Amino acid sequence: MTDTPTQLFIGGAWVDAADGATMPVDDPATGEVLCHVADAGPKDAALAEDAAVQAQEEWARTAPRVRSEILRRAYEIIIERTDELAHLMTAEMGKPLAEARGEVAYAAEFFRWFSEEAVRIDGGLATLPDGRNRMLLSRRPVGPCLLITPWNFPLAMGTRKIGPAVAAGCTMVLKPAPQTPLSSLALAAILKEAGLPDGVLNVVTTSRAGEVCEPLLRGGRIRKLSFTGSTGVGQLLLAQSAQAVVRTSMELGGNAPFVVFEDADLDKAVDGAMVAKMRNMGEACTAANRFFVHRSVAEEFARRLAERMDALVVGPGTRDGVDVGPLIDRTGRAKVEELVADAVQRGARVLVGGRTPEGPGCFYPPTVLADVDPTSRLMDTEIFGPVAAILTFDDEDEVIRRANDTPWGLVGYVFTEGLDRALRVSERLEVGMVGLNTGLVSNPAAPFGGVKQSGLGREGGRVGIDEFLEYQYLAVPVS
Ligand code: NAP
Repeated sequence: MTDTPTQLFIGGAWVDAADGATMPVDDPATGEVLCHVADAGPKDAALAEDAAVQAQEEWARTAPRVRSEILRRAYEIIIERTDELAHLMTAEMGKPLAEARGEVAYAAEFFRWFSEEAVRIDGGLATLPDGRNRMLLSRRPVGPCLLITPWNFPLAMGTRKIGPAVAAGCTMVLKPAPQTPLSSLALAAILKEAGLPDGVLNVVTTSRAGEVCEPLLRGGRIRKLSFTGSTGVGQLLLAQSAQAVVRTSMELGGNAPFVVFEDADLDKAVDGAMVAKMRNMGEACTAANRFFVHRSVAEEFARRLAERMDALVVGPGTRDGVDVGPLIDRTGRAKVEELVADAVQRGARVLVGGRTPEGPGCFYPPTVLADVDPTSRLMDTEIFGPVAAILTFDDEDEVIRRANDTPWGLVGYVFTEGLDRALRVSERLEVGMVGLNTGLVSNPAAPFGGVKQSGLGREGGRVGIDEFLEYQYLAVPVS
């Protein structure tokens, strides 16, 4: 912790907030303050924006190979420092160290992937149909970007945006979540060490998100917003972006259905459920939120899932053998408690968990609820905690209708041994991603994103860089 930067990163320098303000960073496993970081206000945000705007032109002209090699070097540094970064993430966010190490690898991979994409930005030359004109097509960076990230994957949500922005030649102002600023500051230090020029990435940590971001979005100099967070905040930022017609990418909330058909391999389904539900303590936009299990296998599935959930060890993420760390804060835990209480009041059976432990920290036990009533609030609210809510269904059409009966459409999980059914059901689900007999879809080489109110655009994959590029077309007469 002693070497971790705690100041703002503006124009390549570490600086305090203009008014000297700081904010605490808490350890969710103990509730104690880990350290204080600079708390930026609008003045600091304007300086960060100035730095990004000033650096943009030269950065856009940098050779793609140079941008590629900076990302590659940063990838290597992150991998070398896996342990250090994992401890930092566990300290500020709570996830068990093994999961934090997994996130470091996942986060680094976005830099490796986009280091390879930086040198593959293409263009074109064509004779137009009239034969009298040519079209010369080039791709250019969209310009200075505002990147806003959530607390649940503090490192990976940053690299998933910074990687393609660097590859495309965009400069950035990054505003991380106030609960987890340290991972983003560590990332900025690594990118500087890897050779990223001053002003290309600027980081403003703040407890005053609205005051800091709104002027940037309305001011007309920021040309792109890439946001990951809740749908409600995404809607507000879309409205703010409208005035200056800022291009937006939105990775928003989910309400993932997890469908287990009567012909599913139940071992695979339970393994998949453990990943889809318990990755990151259930604090993931991809978390399975509604388990729809065919009536004929529901009892057996619930029994096996409850057995596995009951065997998980809950405790501080730094302790050996711990599978489930604390939730992010007391507010997050209170929301989970309320959702469980509501489901139980409507008739759900608690097979395991469901009781908040005494003592410090924001712990909540792995919980399985069976016979959940479809009117329960957790059916249309992201639980964001280690709670599996099981409902039953009788036929395919019915379960597809119920799975789609939500404003969100990020991801769905389908468990069946029938290929026809697997493809048919996947095609009918209104989601951006489907896990077929697997509980994990995230991969830097695949386009991540949702439909409906789960977002706009995709991150990762071949298309991830497109979000940071514009086309320019030159009309050239054939002489
Ligand atoms: P959140 O409350 O929407 O916050 C996300 C980020 O937006 C934070 O940095 C937050 O800072 C900032 N923010 C809030 N209000 C703002 C405003 N008026 N102007 C500018 N920035 C503002 O979400 P969260 O609780 O951190 O994260 C959980 C949510 O993220 C869930 O809904 C989850 O599904 C979603 N998520 C989606 C994906 C995906 O790829 N689709 C991935 C991960 C998470 P403050 O906290 O200071 O307000």
